[in-house]
Amino acid sequence: MNVETFKSLVSQAQPDCGCNKTDFQSWAAWRTKTRDLDSTLWGKKRLEANMPAGQLENLGPFDHRDEAIKARGYTSYLPNGLNYWSKKAPIAVYFYPFHDCDIYRCKTCQAVFLAYTEESGHVPEQRLRWVRPELISEQK
Ligand SMILES: [Zn+2]
Repeated sequence: MNVETFKSLVSQAQPDCGCNKTDFQSWAAWRTKTRDLDSTLWGKKRLEANMPAGQLENLGPFDHRDEAIKARGYTSYLPNGLNYWSKKAPIAVYFYPFHDCDIYRCKTCQAVFLAYTEESGHVPEQRLRWVRPELISEQK
């Protein structure tokens, strides 16, 4: 998907449908390869913030993914002292981790999300972030 189409999709989102999108204003754990998350408090906490996978439609990656990964690697774009976890961190589509994301859309309210697989923890974990239009950055 190109960035113009992405921005257009984001602008088409409808009012709230009851999906848990506001739990994903900053990056949050979505899915892991661990099966028994109920067995620990940490797992439970993550499940509470979960978005049922069936609620979202996978629209695939950005067209510029491979090129942007080659150009930027693991470099993030975080101006003004913002950090990775900030709700205000720009959704810089040409930088890590956004350039490596698949684009998802809520089947009910059309809210747009980005998801990538974080490999640096104990288990690979898919993280999800809700895309608010004012946060999109085309900085290259
Ligand atoms: Zn929704």
